[in-house]
Amino acid sequence: RIDGAPWVGTSWKMTKTLAEGREFARGLAEALAAEPRLRERVRPFVIPPHTALAAVAAELEGSGVVVGAQNAHWEDAGAWTGEVSVPQVADAGAALVEIGHSERREHFGETVETTAAKVAATLRHGLTPLLCVGEPAEVRDAGGSAEHILAQVRGALDGLSEEELGRVLVAYEPIWAIGEHGRPATVPELEAPFAALQGEFGSRTAAILYGGSVHQDNAAELLAMDDVDGLFVGRAAWRLEGYLELLRLA
Ligand code: PEP
Repeated sequence: RIDGAPWVGTSWKMTKTLAEGREFARGLAEALAAEPRLRERVRPFVIPPHTALAAVAAELEGSGVVVGAQNAHWEDAGAWTGEVSVPQVADAGAALVEIGHSERREHFGETVETTAAKVAATLRHGLTPLLCVGEPAEVRDAGGSAEHILAQVRGALDGLSEEELGRVLVAYEPIWAIGEHGRPATVPELEAPFAALQGEFGSRTAAILYGGSVHQDNAAELLAMDDVDGLFVGRAAWRLEGYLELLRLA
């Protein structure tokens, strides 16, 4: 069922040395080679820090795991000290670019405009954008979740052709659900935001994922939701055994 198979991926954020990244990737490739049926049931992706990107991509070549970058600039090259472009991450082996994570919006000034520019650059070079959206707790409490995330998605995808839209992955990651200060969203809490996202973008984008405190105990019920096309996982997938457990639940 590879066509309808859920995406289950992880971003390592600012963790792991080169050696740690390589070891994880090698173990993942070996585990998938030993369990070919797993590869038919799930679409795995791994997003290392830039420093480990090339090594991880090399280890995972031919494994069926999509390797991504956590960020890339909208320009192809130039005087942008400290930045890395889409052609550069592609050169290092990335096939996907994560865009607009809430940590980047909060700490690094990512806006609707920069996410739109990065989505366009990613598509221009034939890579897959993984657009992250999500609302803060105050917006949720005021009943504004769907409106907030739809505005983020509309803004980032504005002007794309239907063909381009069809190559975009969206991850709904409520800010209040992410990281050690967050708590996982419950199935009832996810129903309205996912219905809104699927209603407007479900048949037009490649998939809509959930992220935010996914762990081994709640992954199966989240994946069982009709509107959830996959999971985007942080902490619970940073150990290889934890990630493999999540893949096996899909
Ligand atoms: C994230 O930051 O995108 C994320 C899903 O993190 P965690 O699973 O650790 O909450």
